[in-house]
Amino acid sequence: MSPWDLRKLKLLQQRVTRKPKGSNNWHKAQRKVAKLHEYVANCRKDWHRKLSHQLCDGVGMIFVEDLNLVGLCRGMLGKHCLDAGFGQFFNILEVTCFKHGVFFQKIDPRKTSQICPNCQHETGKKTLAQRIHNCDNCGYTTDRDIAASQVVLIRGLAAVGHTVKMLSEGKNVGFPMTKESHG
Ligand SMILES: [Zn+2]
Repeated sequence: MSPWDLRKLKLLQQRVTRKPKGSNNWHKAQRKVAKLHEYVANCRKDWHRKLSHQLCDGVGMIFVEDLNLVGLCRGMLGKHCLDAGFGQFFNILEVTCFKHGVFFQKIDPRKTSQICPNCQHETGKKTLAQRIHNCDNCGYTTDRDIAASQVVLIRGLAAVGHTVKMLSEGKNVGFPMTKESHG
């Protein structure tokens, strides 16, 4: 929910509490709150659909981390992650993949941000502020999110029985595959 929507929601909710409960105006104010909720939900769904289509375009497989969303939401990522509607997004993405003939699979999410995609060495936990993956074993350096997604991709390919070449063998397994690189 954008800050603007949040402010509007607060305002509308205030109006509800200021009306005599059960009165006509109270009901009207309630309906406005419900409408805003609906509007925000629709925007989000629309965005999830568009993003899913973009992700499916020109690719053969999509792997996502099989995140324990409820656990995450209780933990450090808290409200942000529930609010972003990850669960709904994954569902929409899965359906979109199915419609486009794109293979979709959830992957074991354990330690994806603690393993070097280049040499599989465990580099230890990163704080959220640490944006760079820098392997002290092989020297591989990249953005932490890219490194984690490379680990997800390697796991995904292994799970579907692909022979996985490491990055050090000269194959960019982890980079977003464009139509060109598909041949
Ligand atoms: Zn490494």
